[in-house]
Amino acid sequence: MCYAIPGKVVAIDDKVVTVEYFDEKKKARNDFYADLAVGEYIYAQGGFVVQRIAEEEAANILKTWQELFTKLKEVDLRLTREPKGLYQVANATRQRSLGNSCCIHGIIEFSNYCRSNCLYCGIRKDNVNLKRYRMDVDEIVEACEYAVKELKFKALVLQSGEDLWYSQEKLVDIVEKVMRKCPVLLIVSIGERDSELYKKLYASGARGALVRFETSNPKLYQKYRPGHTLDERLTLIKELREIGYLVFTGFLLGLPGQSEKDILKDIELTQSLKPEMFTFGPLIPHPDTPLKDVPVPPLEAVLNTIARARILHPDSRILVTTALETLDKEEGAQRGFLSGANSLMVNLTPKKYQSLYQIYPERAGTELDTKQKIEKVLQLLTTIGRAPTDLGM
Ligand code: SF4
Repeated sequence: MCYAIPGKVVAIDDKVVTVEYFDEKKKARNDFYADLAVGEYIYAQGGFVVQRIAEEEAANILKTWQELFTKLKEVDLRLTREPKGLYQVANATRQRSLGNSCCIHGIIEFSNYCRSNCLYCGIRKDNVNLKRYRMDVDEIVEACEYAVKELKFKALVLQSGEDLWYSQEKLVDIVEKVMRKCPVLLIVSIGERDSELYKKLYASGARGALVRFETSNPKLYQKYRPGHTLDERLTLIKELREIGYLVFTGFLLGLPGQSEKDILKDIELTQSLKPEMFTFGPLIPHPDTPLKDVPVPPLEAVLNTIARARILHPDSRILVTTALETLDKEEGAQRGFLSGANSLMVNLTPKKYQSLYQIYPERAGTELDTKQKIEKVLQLLTTIGRAPTDLGM
């Protein structure tokens, strides 16, 4: 089993192509293959055409998927029959709206330096106990190439703190080199950098941007992100959308002072930003931050939020975050999926750096090597009946 299924192009309308996966049709935007024709096979991710593949190769892959694809759908249908309770209702809502499609992205954390001092974050500037690292341009490009060519990922997130060592020139160089070497949906998660930089990265081929707004409450925002305002963050997110990026955004659960009403507003704000993906992470306190004594939110608080968001917004992509997996290393991811989520990221950061990207401690998965992590994810998808076909536009 692989984490993307090729589809056949059955219609083209300017930049929008219709792709067929067995008996299902999805739409995807085609920015990169001007001469793509009906009848060709492609991989799409995040509603984007990321790679065309030869018919014979596609046929072989589809043959290996045919039987499994039907079985996965049956499992998913069985798990969503006669829903009872919030989580099951949310999961059934996801099934009715989006079927069993699921996106699997890889994430590479290339620097843990940050100029900001968010009170909830272990890689904040003032954490002098943290050993810092930066991957250089070639190391990042090599890690991406390995993820795409060897591990067969079709979507990658490049993440760092707000690290100005990566100038516009360096970041453009990274994106251009990656896009030249590998067909991939590239998503950047580099914090609050100016919109001109984001425009340049888009022009170089990046198509997604992950920027969470963390809380819809402006007072909490200023308190926990000293020196920054919610308005600045929301302006950036809106600019990213205007540039054309797929936007991944959401908030933190468990900030001291966050009320139930705030959480509902957080969900509303997430939706009003029209993101391609919702991401809700629990605040897991890091011992070297001012919020070290804050209680960890219960797993159920995160599952409730995923479920409520799914019921309110049936067509959304909702991520199972690593922080959720960390709350319950055995069942966190599965329970997230069964509460309405339909996306997951696999950490592909080179092992020597993984434990240093310490936004919070003891992150799930850092004890495993990449292949073990991938096996675990594929096993999970098989158990709950999800298939890595694109969710479409
Ligand atoms: S949350 Fe982001 S911006 Fe804030 S300190 Fe952590 S890495 Fe830096």
